[in-house]
Amino acid sequence: AREAASPAANRGAIPGVKTIVAVASGKGGVGKSTTAVNLAMGLAANGLAVGILDADIYGPSMPRMTGISGRPTSHDGRILEPMERHGVKVMSIGFLVAEDTPMIWRGPMVMSALQQMLRDVNWGTLDILVVDMPPGTGDAQLTMAQQVPLSGAVIVSTPQDIALLDARKGLNMFRKVDVPVLGIVENMSFFCCPNCGHRAEIFGHGGARREAERLGTEFLAEIPLDIAIRETSDGGTPIVVSEPDGPHAQAFRALAARVW
Ligand code: ADP
Repeated sequence: AREAASPAANRGAIPGVKTIVAVASGKGGVGKSTTAVNLAMGLAANGLAVGILDADIYGPSMPRMTGISGRPTSHDGRILEPMERHGVKVMSIGFLVAEDTPMIWRGPMVMSALQQMLRDVNWGTLDILVVDMPPGTGDAQLTMAQQVPLSGAVIVSTPQDIALLDARKGLNMFRKVDVPVLGIVENMSFFCCPNCGHRAEIFGHGGARREAERLGTEFLAEIPLDIAIRETSDGGTPIVVSEPDGPHAQAFRALAARVW
């Protein structure tokens, strides 16, 4: 069973890319892409050579979150040059199709698109490639986790999402394909009122820390719900870059330091 779960042929390393880390979540809307982009920018701020692969084929967020528009070019008609922003190389299916085009591909097409974005891109020399995975823990995600030569996975969850055991599913999915889970990030952990400073735990708080302990994995970071995080990542300049001295940038850089 283990052999079937790890098709080595598709899992070969990517020349020049030292480490590949997935950012995943049990469901959508928990801040997986926000975490992925700020983790990547945080790694770059810590001095590493970084790329982002947007593997969320059905809902690519990286064009918007990195503020990149336009199409990747190719010198030989086969290998694509990645886009680049804030010193980070970025590839997303969103660069290749119009934003309002629904992706109605079947599984095999998704897999071949992913393989191309992984292997037919001139990533150059990277310390780390951060992969923004599609949300969920179904067969598609499992296959994807098998196809990408991952060194580890970071699971993003909101506090109440943890209660639904989605994070546990995510964890089990990676364990099934022998990818080490680096730990859990609790996003939207609490809310600080910008006017009075009051801290409100809208979705409860601390669930991820408890769950991480229970699952025998690391609790990597807690990121508050903050309008500045949304505005900056939706505006194309993630908070690590736009407010490099602020507390959120520090939190993401600390997360980056734990991942690498
Ligand atoms: P996912 O990738 O899990 O679907 P996204 O990263 O796209 O989630 O986040 C969903 C929405 O929530 C986005 O508009 C994003 O800007 C916002 N968001 C994510 N994390 C935070 C946060 N900590 N504070 C405020 N807004 C957030």
